[in-house]
Amino acid sequence: MATLEIKDLHVSVVTDEAPKEILKGVDLTIKAGETHAIMGPNGSGKSTLSYAIAGHPKYQVTSGSVLLDGEDVLAMSVDERARAGVFLAMQYPVEVPGVSMSNFLRTAATAVRGEAPNLRHWVKEVKAAMGELDIDSAFAERSVNEGFSGGEKKRHEILQLSLLKPKIAILDETDSGLDVDALRVVSDGVNRYKAAGEVGVMLITHYTRILKHISPDFVHVFADGRIVESGGPELAQVLEDEGYVKYAGKQEAAK
Ligand code: ADP
Ligand code: MG
Ligand code: MG
Repeated sequence: MATLEIKDLHVSVVTDEAPKEILKGVDLTIKAGETHAIMGPNGSGKSTLSYAIAGHPKYQVTSGSVLLDGEDVLAMSVDERARAGVFLAMQYPVEVPGVSMSNFLRTAATAVRGEAPNLRHWVKEVKAAMGELDIDSAFAERSVNEGFSGGEKKRHEILQLSLLKPKIAILDETDSGLDVDALRVVSDGVNRYKAAGEVGVMLITHYTRILKHISPDFVHVFADGRIVESGGPELAQVLEDEGYVKYAGKQEAAK
């Protein structure tokens, strides 16, 4: 049973000027089998939280800790984090011209599994996963994210999720830029992965739309670099009705 424990996490972003503190003491524990929605206004630091956990060099942890089953995630290299089972689907996935999807995925799987997957099995695995996500087979030969539509990028992320099988999945604004059909395909993919095993999901979103498809066990409101309120799924409905106005003070007051 995997557990991700974030304790009093403070993170600064490295800029051309002085480093700027973005996360101001985040406490959150995600256990296998649980889905936690992180919701909050733009600029509140949600993506910063995901980048810091994934080990992006621009985001410096100044204090606090992140533990996966008691192991210090922050002491791990980016590859080690992936191998330990922490997966980040980025809000703005990068393009990698000249590297085909199929090679990219095999390299990623090799990094995560510690050895290259048997080629014949791998081809079957990828085909099956692509079929489930309604992804055209020609997709495998295209360069990573190059010229992909928003929907294709998100499907690609969920394809990675189902092939790399992380213990903790961090999905940052997986719903942005998706039309209704793509949102359903992507949500179904996440739900299938949730049903197939014990994964802990951190679902970062600005809107409640995706929560109609992927039901969270917990909802946390993020404002000005910390969690300001936590509750069950009903909290999402309150946010849907009332927006983030109530939290705007906290966001502004601390600036
Ligand atoms: P959210 O995902 O909640 O919209 P972010 O984590 O993207 O919030 O951003 C939080 C704050 O940190 C914002 O004020 C943003 O401008 C700042 N920030 C994030 N990344 C960088 C960066 N690479 N350089 C400068 N400022 C950044
Ligand atoms: Mg603190
Ligand atoms: Mg963001």
